[in-house]
Amino acid sequence: MVPEIFKAPATGILTSPDRLRKIDQLREKNIDVILPLPTLVAVGDQSSGKSSLLESVTDIPFPRGQELCTRYATQITHRRDPEVQIIITIIPAPQSTDNEKVSLRSYRKELSSTDELRTKFVAILDEVNVYMKIKTAKNPKGTKTFSRDILKIEKCGPTEDYLTVIDVPGIFRLTSKGQTTESDRNLVRDMVIGFIKDKRTIILAVLPANVDVMTQEILALAEEYDPEGERTLGVLTKPDLVIERSAKEAVCNLVNGRKKPLNLGYYLVKNRGGDDVDDAEDSSGLRKKERDLFQQAPWCNLPQERVGVAALRERLQDLLGEITDKAYPELRSEARKKLTEARDQRDALGPSRQTDREQQQYLGQIAAKFQTIVRAALATDYSADPAFDQSQLRLITELVEITEWFNVTMRNIGHRYAFQHSGDSTADVDEPEPEEHLSKESGNTKDTWLRNVLTQNPELHDVINLAKEPNTSFSVQSDNGKWIDVVYRRCRGVELGTFSPTVLASAFRDQTTKWDLITERHMSRIILTIHNFIEEMLKVACPNAKIREGVKSMIIDDLVAGYKRGMNFAKYLVQVEREKKPYTVNHYFNSNLQAARGQRMFNILAPKSFEQSQTPQNSPDTVTKVVRLADVKTATTDKSNEKHAQEDIHDILKSYYKVARKRFVDSVWCHAIDHHLLSGPNSPLTLFSEQWVLGLDEDSLAAIAGESRSSRDKRIELSKKISDLEEALRILK
Ligand code: GDP
Ligand code: MG
Repeated sequence: MVPEIFKAPATGILTSPDRLRKIDQLREKNIDVILPLPTLVAVGDQSSGKSSLLESVTDIPFPRGQELCTRYATQITHRRDPEVQIIITIIPAPQSTDNEKVSLRSYRKELSSTDELRTKFVAILDEVNVYMKIKTAKNPKGTKTFSRDILKIEKCGPTEDYLTVIDVPGIFRLTSKGQTTESDRNLVRDMVIGFIKDKRTIILAVLPANVDVMTQEILALAEEYDPEGERTLGVLTKPDLVIERSAKEAVCNLVNGRKKPLNLGYYLVKNRGGDDVDDAEDSSGLRKKERDLFQQAPWCNLPQERVGVAALRERLQDLLGEITDKAYPELRSEARKKLTEARDQRDALGPSRQTDREQQQYLGQIAAKFQTIVRAALATDYSADPAFDQSQLRLITELVEITEWFNVTMRNIGHRYAFQHSGDSTADVDEPEPEEHLSKESGNTKDTWLRNVLTQNPELHDVINLAKEPNTSFSVQSDNGKWIDVVYRRCRGVELGTFSPTVLASAFRDQTTKWDLITERHMSRIILTIHNFIEEMLKVACPNAKIREGVKSMIIDDLVAGYKRGMNFAKYLVQVEREKKPYTVNHYFNSNLQAARGQRMFNILAPKSFEQSQTPQNSPDTVTKVVRLADVKTATTDKSNEKHAQEDIHDILKSYYKVARKRFVDSVWCHAIDHHLLSGPNSPLTLFSEQWVLGLDEDSLAAIAGESRSSRDKRIELSKKISDLEEALRILK
């Protein structure tokens, strides 16, 4: 590796001033908080002279020495500005709490000159220790030995260089008893690494010239993070304290690149010692004591561009320019990436919702989206949203299935007593057996799921009844028609050969005692399915949980009222069917009744029939069953009036029940479900709409859609970040 001193001067210098100026502009916009910008950081052992070196380079009077050993990183920034002033602030550590951040950010000191700073610095640092909660003799309430907060000192003026340097606490090898602990040591190491690992940081490895450099941990650490040695610069301090000739020779060997060479080489500087307080710079940028020292041997024989603060400062600016040139494209792509991230985060927060109008607009959009989903669901347009992939959210499909299940239940166990079989399957056209998926099992899993929905929504307890089906009372009783006998006797009047119409009404009521419960359970399933749909689709339309809860709490009473209307209407339908006099104009009633009566006649005559061969013109093999007319005449005379009436009651009831049952199942769908719960004007699905949002008063709007302080602050913070990054990209162009 060729030591830097033998290389030609860097050629990047031509472009650098412009770029440095741009970096400076970025820093002015505080963009270094978001994007690490090219920086110099002084690292080294405790008391190696870091703070003194930075004071030499920046002219900011640093407190030095053991007592005031640095407890946090200090960033010194130079900024070109018409006004001369020094601004001191604190950059909170990223892991600080919100409260801590607010408190730390509130710290600000403005000073008009370096002299003023010099006189006030100790007092200022005492204040800073209180803000950062650092425990010192003056601040015994402090809790920390070191802090990750950064003290920022901005030096503004019309002639300031573009230079930012960072002073970090020294790496200490031995934990001194009572003061620093192992965890302090790790914290400092972490902090130092945090600064030097960035490719845009120039590492000033500060080494006291009066100590053997080989014992200095910092060179090893720098090498770990800058293995190519592209950005590590050795700075030897305290040359005035080197007395022995051999020691001086060792220092010269380092500067000349003959020993432990560093790619960028070593510089030799003399800082103000503890005693020389007022060794001011002259016009050449050198202080008298430093100049005097370097005029002596052996220092005067060293290459002059390697010796003295002024030479170092010049080199640092060049180096910063080179690093900046290299960092430029990366800064641009990073700024772009961060900008996209920040925009995404802002979008996730949703638009600003501070004024009534903003809140109304925002909520209105959510309501509109919800209604779009509802319309798609009612139109069974399941391609409209990926949420429809969940089968429970395919609303109409799901409700139709539940209704089919209701239909099957009504058919199989809706009646209390079994009807007699007519004995002929053709006379009584019945429905097909239920499909596999409507089996009791699938119904039970659905009920388990619906019960979960109910547990999560205690508001629905008022409306819903999912009581378990009591099996015994629900199975159909087959008592061979005795119940008809009972009803008949109970209602019998003085009719001759016929029966009072109240018998039918009363028998029908008896037959339909389970309708109420079956219907209630059916409606409960329907309502829970609808409610679950509304909840899930609210999530789709409104990902913000707080707003969603707000909407829900505002509509829940009306929702429950809507469900109740549906439920009550279904109960009303049951009541109408059961309480009114049985009646229908449906022709199936008559055809079924005639078929049943015909079947009874058939059953009586069949035993009296005999076979007779057909007339010769027909095929000789065909045999027909015939009865005598006289037998027809006496066919029914063997029956008592009572028996006859009961049979008739049974047949009429059976035919009527079937028609009524089908009519009822259809009505429940049409009126109670479709009209009241789905597509009617007051259905619960229509509740959360733009219209509803428009009707909200200011307070309700703010309660639902208003922003929490933290999310408002977050948006402000992000907006600032976005505009800063946009500005950064403009500057970096
Ligand atoms: P830090 O802990 O690395 O920041 O070291 P300081 O800058 O606080 O310096 C430690 C001590 O060394 C202070 O008393 C300084 O005055 C002193 N010191 C630093 N540089 C020099 C120097 O070049 N010559 C002399 N004589 N003393 C120095
Ligand atoms: Mg220091």
